[in-house]
Amino acid sequence: MGKPTGFFEISRHDRGYEKVAERVGNYKEFVKPFAEDEVKAQGARCMDCGIPFCHTGCPVNNLIPDWNHLVFKGRWRDALNVLHSTNNFPEFTGRICPAPCEAACTLNFNDEAVTIKSIECSIVDRGWDEGWIQPELPLRKTNKKIAIVGSGPAGMAAAQQLARAGHAVTLFEKDDRAGGLLRYGIPDFKMEKYTIDRRVKQMEAEGVTFRVSCNVGVDITTAQLTKDFDAVILTGGAQVPRDLPVPGRDLVGIYFAMDFLTQNNKRVAGDTIPAKDEILATGKDVIVIGGGDTGSDCIGTSIRQGAKSVTQLEIMPRPPEHENKPLVWPYWPLKFRTSSSQEEGAARDFAVATKSFGGKDGKVTAQKVVRLENGKEVPGSDFDLKADLVLLAMGFIHPTHDGLVKDLQVKLDPRGNVLADTLKYQTSTPKVFTAGDMRRGQSLVVWSIREGRQAAQAVDAFLMGSSDLPR
Ligand SMILES: Cc1cc2nc3c(=O)[nH]c(=O)nc-3n(C[C@H](O)[C@H](O)[C@H](O)COP(=O)(O)OP(=O)(O)OC[C@H]3O[C@@H](n4cnc5c(N)ncnc54)[C@H](O)[C@@H]3O)c2cc1C
Ligand code: SF4
Repeated sequence: MGKPTGFFEISRHDRGYEKVAERVGNYKEFVKPFAEDEVKAQGARCMDCGIPFCHTGCPVNNLIPDWNHLVFKGRWRDALNVLHSTNNFPEFTGRICPAPCEAACTLNFNDEAVTIKSIECSIVDRGWDEGWIQPELPLRKTNKKIAIVGSGPAGMAAAQQLARAGHAVTLFEKDDRAGGLLRYGIPDFKMEKYTIDRRVKQMEAEGVTFRVSCNVGVDITTAQLTKDFDAVILTGGAQVPRDLPVPGRDLVGIYFAMDFLTQNNKRVAGDTIPAKDEILATGKDVIVIGGGDTGSDCIGTSIRQGAKSVTQLEIMPRPPEHENKPLVWPYWPLKFRTSSSQEEGAARDFAVATKSFGGKDGKVTAQKVVRLENGKEVPGSDFDLKADLVLLAMGFIHPTHDGLVKDLQVKLDPRGNVLADTLKYQTSTPKVFTAGDMRRGQSLVVWSIREGRQAAQAVDAFLMGSSDLPR
């Protein structure tokens, strides 16, 4: 434990943000790192509660009290080792995880949670700064070849674990850069992309071969893959977006969120987008439909592009201001939250549904919405919103079936995701495994890391008869 009386003496204090006016002028991360003495003090609040619920609140079961104690004692390198024992990429989660661990923190029951996510980020950032994070080469090679399809957090975690177990891993990616939604979904202002590049470099040094711009099922057949490799893991994500089939949907100016976000991340990376394809919020009245992470990312990006106004619409009612802790703790509570992007200047409306879009000369100019009560339309409550750009951010329904999934003839679950359990991660097709959003549906980075690690252990055991990899 940190300091026995720490939680009595020290209040919760979290990392601050750059001022809105300053941060919206660029795409850089704006969370201000903790100073060393702040991390130590916040780690000291961890109260040795006996049954640390944060372990199970965290999907990778991070050993949180252990590293809280170690940073309090100034043993940073030991803290980093403990952190890496359960999480391949703490710098991703330390930046963008919603931190269900903090909801589960025992101190959160009648006080404020330990700032677990910020401490996690401080440990791993220090590890990179000090040069402690180096390639970890396997002690022996197994001569087994594994193909992993999809280089998001699930594919990257599986690849790193399997390469460290001595297997020859090739990671296929249809996009031109590795990282999945970390690269082309999540904006740079939430996570700058050098964080992915240096992990790719580390993994290459550990023996992982990255084959980007290779769409499996198109550029290479799945038959070739199953012939050439001893095992295949599908980590292709859940990329089919939910559409809004109302009158006017075909007007120019209405796009899926990912088309908008991917393009902007490419622009920030230095790519040129052909003028005819550009989707820009500059000077426009923007409507974002959907209240989740993707919607927030559309808001932050629109504001940075210089939108005239940004309005976010959510079909669900406004959640309560505070959770009922005795009822929901240690689980993730439903409560009103304001993301850093929403704080930057979006108007928000709840319990509203879109009836239609209106336009002029084939371009969207307005959106008709109606209020809902108990999920039903309130008669006469229709109203119009001005709209030059509409971004659909209503979630993703399942993975793309054409190509990879159909060719391999893997069975699907009732929601259209690739069917496999969380013990063996094996699909209905021999020697083909699956993990991450492709198996569980659209989720979180931390869940994909967990599934990638567990699938790696299952594949290692499948190939070698047993596995020393952690689950
Ligand atoms: C805009 C947005 C913001 C988000 N923000 C957050 C957040 O703040 N925090 C959080 O925890 N989660 C967030 N998420 C969710 C999170 O990004 C995903 O749950 C996570 O990335 C899923 O990881 P994955 O590895 O399973 O799949 P993905 O990250 O989707 O990666 C799959 C990869 O597979 C590739 N692929 C697919 N098919 C093929 C093929 N046939 N051949 C070759 N390659 C293929 C794809 O190109 C892609 O690169 C967000 C999601 C979106 C869309
Ligand atoms: S990965 Fe997420 S849930 Fe786990 S300790 Fe880090 S912030 Fe918490």
